[in-house]
Amino acid sequence: MDRAKLLPVSLPSRRRLLQSAALATLSTALLPTTRAGAKPQAIDYPQSEWSPASASNYTAADRPTSHPVDFVIIHVAQATYSNTLAIFQNPKKKVSAHYVVRSADGHVAQMVRERDVAWHAGNWDYNSRSIGIEHEGWVDKPAYFTNAMYEESAKLTAAICDTYRIPKDRSHILAHYEVPGSDHTDPGPHWDWTRYMRLVNFA
Ligand SMILES: [Zn+2]
Repeated sequence: MDRAKLLPVSLPSRRRLLQSAALATLSTALLPTTRAGAKPQAIDYPQSEWSPASASNYTAADRPTSHPVDFVIIHVAQATYSNTLAIFQNPKKKVSAHYVVRSADGHVAQMVRERDVAWHAGNWDYNSRSIGIEHEGWVDKPAYFTNAMYEESAKLTAAICDTYRIPKDRSHILAHYEVPGSDHTDPGPHWDWTRYMRLVNFA
């Protein structure tokens, strides 16, 4: 008997087996993203930049299943864009909003997922049923309220209203000072509601 014939002619090397196993794992891992384009999504508003708040500054939830989303609440931050982000990222501050809009160019940061409850309205009932949008600037410095900021904020509010079927009116798009029990004045008397609501409705 020729012993050589008992040996497999081309035994795959252990290295090659490991390589193909790794490739199989890799292609399985890639499947969810390649199939149907279902990318893992960290943001709700595609035009925004995800810049997460500290998890100590909001309440994790499962909206709109856990709570309905009935309102958009408009704020002016009394701070710069970058300081507002830093405040919401600071776990000691116990405050957050879903979005922050930058004055100069209307750039939008998303800091809290819409399914979660941000702490911006000073009223649990309203926090739990709203999306909060902060704007860079101060209530008494209207120069911060630029065209770009109005336009980009209005697009964001319109998108939120479309998602949750919120009527695009002043009974549902509220100023922070209109939240019951609020002692805040933002967005203040210089915020142009007529213009803002027109932009929201034609966004
Ligand atoms: Zn406010």
